[in-house]
Amino acid sequence: MSLPRPIRVIRNATLRDGRRVDVLIDGEVVADVLAAGTAPTAGSDAELDLDGFVLLTAGADPHSHLDKSRTWERISPPFGDLPTAVAEYTAYSAAESRESIADRARETALDLLAHGVTAVRSHVNILPGDDPLRGVDALLRVREELRGLMDIELCTLGDETATIEQHEEAIRRGVDLVGGAPHLATDPFFELERLLDLADRLGVGADMHTDEGLDGPLTIVELARRAATWEGRAATAGHCCRLGTLPKDELAPVIESVLAADLGIVTLPITNLYLQGWEVPVSTPRGLTAVRELLDAGARIGAGADNVRDPFNPLGRCDHLETVSLLVTAAHVSIDEAYSLVSDGARSVMHLPVAGAAAGARAEFVAVKGASLAEVAATADPNRHVIHRGALVSSTVATVTTAAWAAVTEGQVTA
Ligand SMILES: [Zn+2]
Repeated sequence: MSLPRPIRVIRNATLRDGRRVDVLIDGEVVADVLAAGTAPTAGSDAELDLDGFVLLTAGADPHSHLDKSRTWERISPPFGDLPTAVAEYTAYSAAESRESIADRARETALDLLAHGVTAVRSHVNILPGDDPLRGVDALLRVREELRGLMDIELCTLGDETATIEQHEEAIRRGVDLVGGAPHLATDPFFELERLLDLADRLGVGADMHTDEGLDGPLTIVELARRAATWEGRAATAGHCCRLGTLPKDELAPVIESVLAADLGIVTLPITNLYLQGWEVPVSTPRGLTAVRELLDAGARIGAGADNVRDPFNPLGRCDHLETVSLLVTAAHVSIDEAYSLVSDGARSVMHLPVAGAAAGARAEFVAVKGASLAEVAATADPNRHVIHRGALVSSTVATVTTAAWAAVTEGQVTA
């Protein structure tokens, strides 16, 4: 049957806490969660039997770069750090067309969706060349094409040569948020100020690449100071690697300012692990932000996959379970905490409604074949069903064929 397919009853699913349940869905919202086997029938087209699957809140990616994705092999950049990646992508992007950007972005977005990510915030570069907003136009088009299948938010991104008029025109065309990477500018605080002044003038939120390095200025405190006065809009700080290098006594007041501003923090393990620490060959630092301290302080924090196969990260599977695995390994959070960071936490940073298996929550789900969260976090099993706004929007059914093996009793074993 073709998709999307509205679902009214999910049967026999296993939740993160081990409960076996049926889930009733009314439109885009979960109406009730019942013991497995007790939901009324809804007709086969509107039912989904998830026996043998773990039902999870869908993934959300609060920090991606759909426009840059899938360029690693086209560019063949040298392995290296953030400045290398920026230079390589900037040189390549001068000749990139709107069509090429749209095609790669669409492929990556659909790949994310098939893995169970139903909400994405993508930064989009203001580009060199005659038509600096061609990437913006490409992503606005992809967002429109995928409307109804997944939620896509867009945020401007440019270096200090991108003009305020270009950022403003991108917002006028439909981009949601003002962004940038002030820590890379000649004067980081001036760059942050000019971008936040624009956000203030337009009355929109902001999402800054923030302090993405192991040393350098702490612009996050100034971002928090400005955002603390905002009403009805939100600010986000991505990366924040510098926080992960601070001793406890210096970190504490920074976290206080993050909490006071309700600043959203996004940690991006795969890109930080790849780009950070090249200059430290022994006991190489991990480059992640202070994830444990931010979680324990109750900060609004999520995790994303950032770059997918571009000069900033040669790898990436468009799978939020890959980020879960990296968070457990590199940030020393529990599997449960890691899954929250790529789902509920990410949605919280994006200020999306609460989703998952609870009455009144949005019906945003990914069901992954397996018996428990711990199992599927390890296996990242390809067999999945993805529900967005109450409708089945993607299913992956993998086939494994392995040669037969022959049973042997102990007496038959010969040397
Ligand atoms: Zn980024």
